[in-house]
This record gives sequence, C-alpha cells and structure tokens, in this order.
Amino acid sequence: MLRRLCLFTTLLAIAGCEPANEASNSAASASTQAANAAVAKAYNLGDQQALQDAQRGFIAKPSGQVRNEQGVVIWDFDSFNFLHGNAPDTVNPSLWRQAVLNNQVGLFKVSEGIWQLRGFDLANMTLIQGATGWIVIDPLTSRETAAFAWAFAREHLGEQPVSAMIFTHSHVDHFGGALGILSAEDARAQQTPIIAPEGFMAEATSENLLMGLAMSRRASFMYGQRLPRSATGLVDNGLGKAVAFGRAGILPPTVLINEAAQPLTVDGVEFIFHSMPGAEAPAELTFSLPEHKAFAGAEMVSQTLHNLYTLRGAKVRDARLWSEHIQQMLHYAEQAEVLFNQHHWPVWGTANIQQFLTAQRDVYRFLHDQTVRGMNAGLTAPEIAEQLKLPASLDQQMAVHGYYGTLKHNVRAIYQFYLGWFDANPANLDPLPPVAAAEKYLALAGGSEALLSQAQQAYDAGDYRWAAELGKHLVYADRDNQAARELQAKAFEQLGYQAEGTPWRNFYLSGAYELRHGLPEQPFSPAMMLDMLRHTDTREFLASMATRLDAEAAADKNLRVVLNFTDSGERYLLWLENAVLHNRMLATEETIEPDAQLSLTKDFFLQMVIGKAGAAALLTSDEVSIDGSVLKLGEFFGLLDKPDGRFPIVTRP
Ligand SMILES: [Zn+2]
Repeated sequence: MLRRLCLFTTLLAIAGCEPANEASNSAASASTQAANAAVAKAYNLGDQQALQDAQRGFIAKPSGQVRNEQGVVIWDFDSFNFLHGNAPDTVNPSLWRQAVLNNQVGLFKVSEGIWQLRGFDLANMTLIQGATGWIVIDPLTSRETAAFAWAFAREHLGEQPVSAMIFTHSHVDHFGGALGILSAEDARAQQTPIIAPEGFMAEATSENLLMGLAMSRRASFMYGQRLPRSATGLVDNGLGKAVAFGRAGILPPTVLINEAAQPLTVDGVEFIFHSMPGAEAPAELTFSLPEHKAFAGAEMVSQTLHNLYTLRGAKVRDARLWSEHIQQMLHYAEQAEVLFNQHHWPVWGTANIQQFLTAQRDVYRFLHDQTVRGMNAGLTAPEIAEQLKLPASLDQQMAVHGYYGTLKHNVRAIYQFYLGWFDANPANLDPLPPVAAAEKYLALAGGSEALLSQAQQAYDAGDYRWAAELGKHLVYADRDNQAARELQAKAFEQLGYQAEGTPWRNFYLSGAYELRHGLPEQPFSPAMMLDMLRHTDTREFLASMATRLDAEAAADKNLRVVLNFTDSGERYLLWLENAVLHNRMLATEETIEPDAQLSLTKDFFLQMVIGKAGAAALLTSDEVSIDGSVLKLGEFFGLLDKPDGRFPIVTRP
C-alpha cells in the first residue's frame, strides 16, 4: 500500500518514499530539511557568547554512569556524546544549539565562593561557601544523582559539611535528592537550617499525588523517557539534559520565606530572600547576595521560554504575575554582577543581567497581553497561537525561545487561564468523543484505504499536521491497521524533527515510538517516591484514595471503615455515600461502630498505597489488626481501582 502510493505521489515529494522499515526511524524529509534550514538562516546560532558562558569557570567533568542500589542506571554522563558539530537534519538547529549548551556538564566556579554542578540531573545544584561549610541550594531530583554530585564537589573542592540547605521551590527536581546529601537524623541533630518558601512542604508533597499516574505517564512522553538518545531520538529537555528517575525524598524546612524582601544571615553569609509565589511554582523564592554582588533567580528565569502550561499536565500558571515578579527582580538585581539560576548557565555583567531579565519579563507580558487582545477580538486559542509572533527584538534573543515552554502552547494556556476550555461555539459544546468521531470521519472519507490515501498525500506534501490529524482518526477507528500506524508514526517524526521545543519533539517522537513498539512493559511504580510520601499529609492520601472509587460498583453500598494509625494516634472514619468515598478525622473520645476497623502504622499504610502490601499482607502482618468484619473490609478495598498507569495515548484500546 505504502509503496503503491509512493509511486503515484513521487512528483509531490520524493521524501515520502524512503524504504519502509516498520520498526525504525525515518530520515528527515525534504520539507523537514527545508524547515530546519530556514531556522538556521533566521537566527545567529553561531554566536559563541552563550557557549563561553556555559563553559566559564570550568573545574572538572564527570563521566560514566550513576546507578541505584539495584544497579540500574539512573544517570549516564556519556549518553549525549553525539552532541557536537553542526545540527543533523533530524533536529531543529536552534534546539541543537540549546542541546549542546546544556551538555556543558561539570563543576563550575560561578564567582568567588559560589559553585554550580550542572548536568548531574535536570536542575543545577549550587554551593555557596559559608563560615563552617557549604550552603547547598537545590539538591537535584534523586538521592542517587545528588550523592554523586556531592561526592564530586568534595573530591574537587575539598571536604566540607553541609551548613544549610535552601529549596528554591516546590518542584521535585529542586529537592528530591536532599537525602543523598543530608540524612533527616543528621539534619535534626545538627539543627541544619533548611530554608524554603512558605507553602513549600504542602505543595511539594501533594503536587503529584492526586494526578500521579496520569502526570507520570504523560511526563514519560514529555521527557522522552523511552526514547533512545540519538539524533533521531532524545537530544535534550530544554531545561537540562534529562530527568533522573531515581529515589526522591524531602527534608522538612525549618525556616520559611514569606516576605518580598526578607534578610537572613545563613552560616555567616548575608542573604536577602524574596518570596515569589504563584507563578513558576506555587511556592518559590529568589535571593540576593549583596556581599557577592550576586542574584539567584531560582527558576523564575532561565535560558528558555518556560511553561505557562506544562504538557505533562498541571494547573496553568499566571503569566502576568510571573512577569511582575521578574520586574521586581530587575530592581533587586540592579547591583548584581552575576545572575545564577537553578537551570542553565549564569549571566555575567550588570548590563547583560538587566538585558536578560528584561527579555524574560517581556516575553511573558507580551504573550499575556497579545493573547488577551486576541481573545477580546473573538479569536480562539488555536487561531491566536497560529498567528502570534514575537517582535524581532525578543525573537532574536535565543534565551526566550521555546525550548521548554513554547509560544503556541503558552498562548493556549493563557486562554485557558481566563476563559477555560470552551471556545463559545455551540458546535464544540458537546462533540462526539474521539473514537465515535473517528469512526464517522472514516465513513465520511470512504473507508480506511481512502483515508489512508488522503493522509499519505498530506504526508508527501509535507503537511504533517494535517497528515497527523487524519492519521489520528484512522488509527482510532481502524485499530489493527498497521500501515496507518506506520504513516502516523512517520508524520509524528517529521513534526518532532522540526520542533524547536523539547516537550514537542519528545511528545511526537514518543508517540511514534509507541505506535511501533506498544505500551511500556513496566507499570509505573510509586515506590521510588516513598521517602517523600512519608511527609505527605494523610488526608492527601485519603483524597487520592477517594478518586479511585469504582462509582458503579459503589452506587448501592453503605460501608463504614475506621483507619486507626497506631503510631500517630490519628483515626479517620471513611464512609460511602452517593458513590463518594468521604472521610473525616475522629476526635479522641469519639466512639463509633464501623463495619470494620483497620489498625496499622502509617508506614504500612504507605506500603499499601504504593502497592507493595496487598490483601494477603494485610491479613497476615503483625503490624496490622482488624476489628469487625474482614469480609466488609475486603469488599471496601475491592471497590478501589488499581490502575498501573500504562494507558494508551496515541492509540485506543
Ligand atoms: Zn526545575
């Protein structure tokens, strides 16, 4: 089928006719090559200043792999060694430049008394020399990579203890590795100051719980977790090379920042902290170091346009507030001679810093104002996204290009922030769901062969967006059609090869990968989050449990269960009403007659939550006791879904 169509459409584009290899990546088509060549021509990608900045202060570079206790590779310093020279035609040249810059890995001296470990994880770890040791800022995502980075710093700078720890914000790539550097026991015994923005703990421990499975599955697309690292696969993640999927933990803060300017001396170093909530993260701080003439921008600013909406799925962020926070930073950083952030390389020189911050401030404000302008003119989100372009004065500054957030999906985020999902056209009020619509489109097109032929023509003409749209209906409606899947994979690939933003590239290429290779073999395991979940409020778990209720099966049920936590003394009544699983904390003196009471430690409960302890363990463990009806308790837990997070995305079951 593919071969026959190729013969007919050769005049349209030769590129669509590479030999069909069912399981391998396609080459860049003529259209993709032309699109990428146009990008190379439009921007000054050969400018060496950013590369010099990314290499400035270099001390030492690691190599090899970081493994977890089971020997699984968590981080591979050598896996991006292919990133040198000119961009291959399967990578947008602007993205290639960013990928090379992010691959300047090592320990770097930022200025006197300030160092950064970059490329040991998605984020940077920063060290500041205190009177008695190092003040550690943002100890990476996982215990394994943090411990490695910490040992690497001590090897090259000399042995020093941790004198304080600062978490700049509530995203896991900035605190998850804390226990790899400092144990909870040592932190308590040494009274190590742990500084974080107000609201940090609640946000950090709940962010991924309720939507954990959906977000994790989507994150595996966004970060290209299943993609080979190569010129036709994963090249970068915009903010850094990759995410370390190791063990995540947390340390409870001892000092909270909640003021616009909050001076604090930390291990003899003068800090002025600035609370900047509700923009990049719900809880975030930046800080000035007056003695160092330095400013730390956390993740409020970075060498990319950031996400107003992250494609892994999250609540949308406030573009206007974000821009206003950066306006404040321009003022706070007036005296700064160096600006260092928790992703990417620093900016040196007062004028450069002001220019950098100005562009960061303005890109969010421009997107905000112009999107709202379009909304008030009656345009829909896709229409605004299609036509909005940055002014040349911003567009020529690569640090505001969309390597992580993209202009197009940020425009949609601003629309969503103010107006929500509905574009006000009643035709879109109650559309058919995807598969039902796909079946009708298939019939309308005259069947599978006709629709595939149309999609192939779009592909051959280089119109990959339309090819993917047609392919989506075809793959949904005709689920066993391998030719349709392969064509859809190829359309996704060309879109991925042209994308400047890593989330787009990774989503497209992961979609292509799963069309050819199917769903992940391993289910998602929350076990690696156990150290973090220990600090999560019990009510968050109960809220999460309620969202797993099989409403149909629970519709006529009337069960009451008491959870009695033997270590904390907390007791919760859980009951079903109107197919909703409710809970409330019981007062100490309150007596109640439930159908069953489960007495257990919080830790055992966590083992149940992460799926490590099942029904058998529940009945046999001596950490658990059951009063009342075991049968009813079994019935109760039987009403809860046990999803493993491997749902299809580009196909339908
Ligand atoms: Zn981050």
